[in-house]
Amino acid sequence: MTTMLAIYITILGMVLGSFFNVVGLRIPVGKSVVRPPSQCGACHKQLTGRDLIPVFSFLLAGGRCRHCGAKVSVIYPLGEALTGLLFLWVYLRFGLTAEGIIGFLLVSMLIMITVADLKYMRIPNRILLFFLPILGALILIFHVAPLGQHVLGALLGGGVMLLLAWFGGMGMGDVKLFALCGFVVGFPGVILAFLAACLCGVLVGGILLLLGVIKRRQPIPFGPWLALGTLITYGYGSQIISGYLSLIG
Ligand SMILES: [Zn+2]
Repeated sequence: MTTMLAIYITILGMVLGSFFNVVGLRIPVGKSVVRPPSQCGACHKQLTGRDLIPVFSFLLAGGRCRHCGAKVSVIYPLGEALTGLLFLWVYLRFGLTAEGIIGFLLVSMLIMITVADLKYMRIPNRILLFFLPILGALILIFHVAPLGQHVLGALLGGGVMLLLAWFGGMGMGDVKLFALCGFVVGFPGVILAFLAACLCGVLVGGILLLLGVIKRRQPIPFGPWLALGTLITYGYGSQIISGYLSLIG
């Protein structure tokens, strides 16, 4: 039963991931997420059921539009596959518990924001404002750590990003995003989330720079790294932090 449920949840993640792509690509430019229905960006032919099976439609069609042969952005299948895998991870890690529900919501928000930030270098308020009351209420009801630690996490998360924004580089979207993530993971998790985000960002940024994929001084979006750091912390923060403390203690 658990295996069946795991498969259903992965498929659900892939299907929702397809919608999260649409949200991430349309909300920042003020488009509706329901109208018009998905269409090919080149020939504007409306996509039908056959074209909308997550990941598989892309693979079967060789990454091209069935009608005009234009290349389809790899963002679509990647976003779908990643959402499916992260939904599976949340289920295996937390099961269908309150922590799991918060995990599914966190993944959903972070996928939308990652797509928007990668494509437009923007973290839309509308996405944050949609999830803020839901995640906020769930933490208020189901928090394991004292509520003060969640508030402190929000203040520290927002505060450190605000400081970075003053010195340039970060936008106000990063400030708001990381305040919300800090509220969810709490203190001291927020510190781990920040360090993990910086470490992954610098490592991957450095590799991309060496490979010549990006240029020196080219701004890279920080939202996806904050998202990754937050998910690592949400999943394993207490183990990592207690492991670290026992190492230095
Ligand atoms: Zn086409």
